[in-house]
Amino acid sequence: MRVVYLDNNATTKTAPEVVEKMQPYFEEYYGNPSSMHNFGGLVQKEIALARESVASGLGCLAREVVFTSGGTEADNAAIFSATGSQPDKKHLVTTRVEHPAVLSTMKYLEGKGYEVTYLGVDEKGRLDMQEYLDSLRPDTALVSVMYANNETGVIFPVRDMALAAREKGVLFHTDSVQAIGKIPMDMKDLPVDYLVLSGHKIHGPKGVGAVFVRKKSPFRPYIMGGHQENGRRAGTENTTGIIGLGKAMELVLKNMDQKNDEMSRLRNKLEQGLLGAVTNSKVNGETLNRLPNTLNISFSYVEGEAILLMLDQFGVCASSGSACTSGSLEPSHVLRAMGVPFTHAHGSVRFSLSRYTTEDEIDLVLEKMPGIIQRLRDMSPFSADSEAICATK
Ligand SMILES: *Cc1c(COP(=O)(O)O)cnc(C)c1O
Repeated sequence: MRVVYLDNNATTKTAPEVVEKMQPYFEEYYGNPSSMHNFGGLVQKEIALARESVASGLGCLAREVVFTSGGTEADNAAIFSATGSQPDKKHLVTTRVEHPAVLSTMKYLEGKGYEVTYLGVDEKGRLDMQEYLDSLRPDTALVSVMYANNETGVIFPVRDMALAAREKGVLFHTDSVQAIGKIPMDMKDLPVDYLVLSGHKIHGPKGVGAVFVRKKSPFRPYIMGGHQENGRRAGTENTTGIIGLGKAMELVLKNMDQKNDEMSRLRNKLEQGLLGAVTNSKVNGETLNRLPNTLNISFSYVEGEAILLMLDQFGVCASSGSACTSGSLEPSHVLRAMGVPFTHAHGSVRFSLSRYTTEDEIDLVLEKMPGIIQRLRDMSPFSADSEAICATK
């Protein structure tokens, strides 16, 4: 069956050019880049080129790029660098809507004696700049604020926030995994100390990512061992992954504006079509200041997971902000932080497009969704109380 893949904020298709680029480094050039011989040196050179590619995409120096096993490790490495290098500062600032890679690390540090300020968001998913400024203290070790939200696509004013932190001498980290390849990045103009990216969110391979560490910003190795990555990340390099990431970065920056325009045109078509065809539907999050590929939409009195199961029968892949079937009555922490009412939060679906998404695919979803929602609403004896639907499971 045909797959209509609209779950690109979860992971993306590996670009064929990336696979092609990686292939010889599995089959032929399997040398260890740390070896003295030429066979390994050849791989070392290719890694250097991948580092150049990532650095050029970020507008930074090659030596400011540290390859990791993905976005999660990169986030962890940045946060632990800031805390490890300033043992006397025991306060951290983040938001309530971060990815678990940041939120769980913050929770861990709370257990180690840190005080964490979790900035709230309004009903559109926006931060309050004054609340942020007021949260910065002399003992703040790090601010960690995502560039764009993976569930709603809402973009935060990271540049202004990072400037304010720098003025107060506070280190700043941004989880920019969802922004890379969709928003132009230039580290010369973005005053952050740490910024992270992940290969599999930009049509590269899974299990590889990178953390940008500004030249003068502190870094503490998070994984001990050999001297790889300039002593910053031990372990034999994920050679194929890194080489693939370099290629993915190059590809995703090519025609970025044009690809963004096309993605947002299709996303807006989907959004307008669904809002028009389904009663009691509503977009979650600010619609203007948003990634071009993301639509988070709620249909009241139905369950997101039921919608996903029915979409799945047509080969349509999306994701949901509710977690009824996983044993939790709680909708997504992001929608909860936004104060989305229970009746809407449970019926939320996230569609996330990519540069490979076609008009046909959007048309298929527009054709199937109204019927799906109608059937689910007809079936639901609890349509006035979606909380009860969950509770009866
Ligand atoms: C996917 C994602 C991550 C984690 O990246 P992995 O490479 O899967 O570890 C972190 N933050 C955000 C916002 C993400 O979307």
